[in-house]
Amino acid sequence: MMSLDTSVRYMRGVGEARGKLLEKMGIETLRDLIMDFPRAYEDRRQIKTISSLVFGESACVLATVAAPPQTSHIRRGLDVTKVNVVDDKARLSITFFNQDYVKNALVPGNDYVFFGRVEGRIGAPAMTNPVFEKAENSGVLTKCIFPVYRLTSGISQGMMNRLMRQGLRECEGNYPEQLPERVRAEYELAQTRFSYENIHFPKSFEDLEVARKRLVFEELFVLSCSLKILREKRVEKNGVGIPVPELTEFTDLLPFELTEAQKQAIDDVLKDMSGEKPMSRLIQGDVGSGKTMVAAAACWAVWKAGHQSAFMVPTEILARQHYESMKQLFQPLGIRTVLLTGSLGIKARREALRQLEEGTADIAIGTHALISEGVSFRDLALIVADEQHRFGVQQRAALTDKGTGPHVLVMSATPIPRTLALIVYGDLDVSIIDQLPPGREKVDTFLVGENMRQRVYNFIRKLVEQGRQVFIVCPAVEENEDGSEDLKSVKKYAESLSKDVFPDLKVALVHGRMKSKDKNAVMSDFADGNTNILVATTVIEVGVDVPNAALMVVENADRFGLSQLHQLRGRVGRGKFKSYCILFEGAGGAAARERLSALCRTNDGFKVAEEDLRIRGPGDFFGSRQSGLPDMHIAGFASDMDILVKAQEAAKKTMEMDPELQMEENRNLKNSVNRLIDKNRGTFN
Ligand code: ADP
Ligand code: MG
Repeated sequence: MMSLDTSVRYMRGVGEARGKLLEKMGIETLRDLIMDFPRAYEDRRQIKTISSLVFGESACVLATVAAPPQTSHIRRGLDVTKVNVVDDKARLSITFFNQDYVKNALVPGNDYVFFGRVEGRIGAPAMTNPVFEKAENSGVLTKCIFPVYRLTSGISQGMMNRLMRQGLRECEGNYPEQLPERVRAEYELAQTRFSYENIHFPKSFEDLEVARKRLVFEELFVLSCSLKILREKRVEKNGVGIPVPELTEFTDLLPFELTEAQKQAIDDVLKDMSGEKPMSRLIQGDVGSGKTMVAAAACWAVWKAGHQSAFMVPTEILARQHYESMKQLFQPLGIRTVLLTGSLGIKARREALRQLEEGTADIAIGTHALISEGVSFRDLALIVADEQHRFGVQQRAALTDKGTGPHVLVMSATPIPRTLALIVYGDLDVSIIDQLPPGREKVDTFLVGENMRQRVYNFIRKLVEQGRQVFIVCPAVEENEDGSEDLKSVKKYAESLSKDVFPDLKVALVHGRMKSKDKNAVMSDFADGNTNILVATTVIEVGVDVPNAALMVVENADRFGLSQLHQLRGRVGRGKFKSYCILFEGAGGAAARERLSALCRTNDGFKVAEEDLRIRGPGDFFGSRQSGLPDMHIAGFASDMDILVKAQEAAKKTMEMDPELQMEENRNLKNSVNRLIDKNRGTFN
């Protein structure tokens, strides 16, 4: 018997070369193999008669080989084998390309089950390269629910199928057990044996569902436990306790009342920071919900206690904007703010660094320049990371290293369903701002086709005549190699807009490839109202505040994700003017139209996010590899929400009972947790 940790190379029929291919697929051990679950299933259970075959459909037929197969050599590298098979009433012609072995495998007069796509014409059905097996041995490739595995070139479905059967046999029923028996029983989950056998080779779809449920639960349970363990490790570092101050001094600075949701979030933050354990909190709120004020309150409390804060944002423009507004806000109290970005002159940079090091500056606002070499703080007690989904986990970690166990506050405007937030940020506490400041009007959103272009231009002109400003966003995939093409077309587009369509208006262009200095100049010009129309790539996606902008036009909207479009839409409707968002549907067709129409129906970022998540899955949702989550074998974060809730509850209970997983009943779990953490060092922070 092989152990679960034995290399797949030692399996019959694998060896060096195939072993390498499997390794490429992440399958190194027997355990990896049997945990590589099918990505789909084909129902091949029903046997049809030849005369009832439907063209275009895949089906199984039971038939007798009528005459010896005939192979002809067409040209070098192409042999064709033809064979006719029959049942009681009809004949089926079968063609195989380059499969000489069928000549001997199909014996005239014997019965076989064939599975393939039905082709040919009426009265003369045909199949090409069907799979087949002897009637008396059928049930492996045909007459079954057939598992479909992900493959790599050189590994076929048939081979995977054989390997998997062999793999399960090698285990002799000792499949990986990760759940403590107590949990398995409490949640009424299937045994491993049943689960592994039925996830690969289900006898019925009902059995498959029972098996799947257990394995999904198990995977999410192990993940939740791992995240909890990681988190416990982190909090060993002591932070600086910040006494909870009387909030009125802060609120007196504000020209408005805080919303209840803001107050609640500030409360959470102040409470967290008052302890020695460093805060790890995520503030989640839709665009425009006023997250900045929560961060400002935190920085203020830290200042009152005599320490420094760092406020990290993803773009230079945003850094400037936050810097200006914080400086203004805090001036009456004498709080000293500095700006630190990449485009700062040498002298200004040196001065900022000196102040941070000496402690003569209280709050540093900046881009990732804040975490660059040579930046040191005298007494950093709080780090705020705005729009956190744009920062890699490493960057967050690098900033944490600048202080001794500083409190960390991350803010995200990508609203994600709460359960998902809990698992993605399983290491963070979460506050949700689910309320917009009063008086915000909904942004009316329209999805239009090319035929509406002239009317859209007329509408732009009308708004500009009323004194408003307009964003026009074009998709430019700046990080792509072919980004230059996109860039060219954006430039051309802006040029023609300015020359041919609005020669009398001020049209400016901003894109990601511009020097920061130029970018900032164009953005400030727009923010100051000197430009009527700003053509932009998605660099404006995050955070910029231009209250006079009342229209967001998006070209080729089909090339954006829903959440991203929602962010873009959030750039307007921030002032007192009725605002609009117009999406040109692009070339995406009906599917894109259906997807985009979700935005017209709702202004609620959480609803948009759910839809987005449902359609695209978590990988794309967060951007490549930024989710901080390992790849899942079987669980889907969108579709398995209810199981996720239960798995998290079970993980919480288990970890409360046995925080270090030292109890005998949790031994398997502990091994799995260690394995998961080990395998995903780079993914988790
Ligand atoms: P986001 O959550 O998108 O970061 P901001 O913090 O930028 O939102 O706030 C958006 C706008 O709303 C800003 O102009 C801010 O001054 C304003 N604002 C924030 N809180 C309130 C409030 N309680 N009442 C009125 N306006 C508010
Ligand atoms: Mg913001």
